[in-house]
Amino acid sequence: MMDPGFEAAVEAARKSLREGGIPIGAALVRDGEIVATGHNERVQQSDPIAHGEMSALRAAGRQKTYRDTTLYTTLAPCAMCTGTIIQFKIPRVVVGEAETFEGEFDLLRSRGVEITVLDDPRCKEMMTSFQHEHPELWAEDIAE
Ligand SMILES: [Zn+2]
Repeated sequence: MMDPGFEAAVEAARKSLREGGIPIGAALVRDGEIVATGHNERVQQSDPIAHGEMSALRAAGRQKTYRDTTLYTTLAPCAMCTGTIIQFKIPRVVVGEAETFEGEFDLLRSRGVEITVLDDPRCKEMMTSFQHEHPELWAEDIAE
């Protein structure tokens, strides 16, 4: 199963890893077309708000509506990204994995957001290795 939106999110996560950053990527998709991609830029830009989802939404620029979009992300969205998904009324989120970080699925579902978890082994591998090699960076990203 090759979903171009999801593959773009995975590629963005890999790009971040190559740059020495946190390997989390995202893509905003409308009608099967990728509007924008982004990845975590905490390390690259010293920007604590630039999670993968936030970076993709920033790259997408102004949108008249998000009601016809799907947000792909390699990892379950945190509270900040969940708040943005709710605020922008994005109806669907496709998540690579939620094992290494459980995110805020209850909050998303409570606001009617449809969640699909792909349980993707590449995403799990990327995050498991990263958390093992850079525990301090990971702790910083999730404010632990
Ligand atoms: Zn986040």
